Amino acid sequence: MILIGTMNITRTRGQGDFHCPTCGSLREYSLKSRRPFLTLYFIPTVPIGASELFVRCDGCKSNWDPAILNMSARDHQVAKDTQFRVEAFRASVLVVLHGGAINDREIEALLEIGHRILPEPIDRDDLGQLCSSAVQNRVSAANYVRSVCRAWSIEQKQRALGAMFVAATADAGLDAKTLVLLASLRDAMNLTDEEYESAIEAAIQWDDAAET
Ligand SMILES: [Zn+2]
Repeated sequence: MILIGTMNITRTRGQGDFHCPTCGSLREYSLKSRRPFLTLYFIPTVPIGASELFVRCDGCKSNWDPAILNMSARDHQVAKDTQFRVEAFRASVLVVLHGGAINDREIEALLEIGHRILPEPIDRDDLGQLCSSAVQNRVSAANYVRSVCRAWSIEQKQRALGAMFVAATADAGLDAKTLVLLASLRDAMNLTDEEYESAIEAAIQWDDAAET
C-alpha cells in the first residue's frame, strides 16, 4: 500500500511592524506563505494548489489578509466605528422584532435611526432584508447586545441604548413590557443606573440634539 496524503508547507517570506486589531497596538508580524503539497509516505512531493500569503501577528498569533499591512491605525478606528454603528442598528431592529410583527410607525423609526447611526442611510428594501434575516436567526435583542457590546465604549453603549429606546417606544410608547426589555438591555451592557438614565434622557431629546 502506498501512503498518500496532503500537507501545508508554510514559509516565512518577510517581517515588519503592523497595527494588530486584536492586540490593538503596533506589533511585529511575519508574512507567511502556505501551499498544499501531495505527500508520499509523509514526504511532500508535488504542490497541488497555489500558495497563499497571510500575515501572522507575532504577539497574539492571529492571522490576517496581507491587505492589513496597508491599513493605518486611523483606518482601523474607522472600521471599528463602522462596525459599532452597524451593530447598534441591528440591535435596534431586534428590539422592534421583540414586540412581534413590525408596523409602519416602527419602520419609519428604524429608517430614522439608520439615518442617524449608520455610515450610510438604509432604504426600505435593505431594512426588510435585515428584518427577515434577523427573524430567521431568532437571536434575542438582549443576547445579541450581550455578545457584541464587549467591544463598545461606555459612550457607544449609551448611544446604542438611545437608538434601541427610540426603536422600542416607536409603537406603543413606554409600556411595562418595553421597560422590562430596556432593563434587560441595560443589564446586558452592564450599565449603571446613572449611565442608563442619561442615555434615555439623551434619546428623548433626540429630535433637538445635533447629529454626531
Ligand atoms: Zn496581535
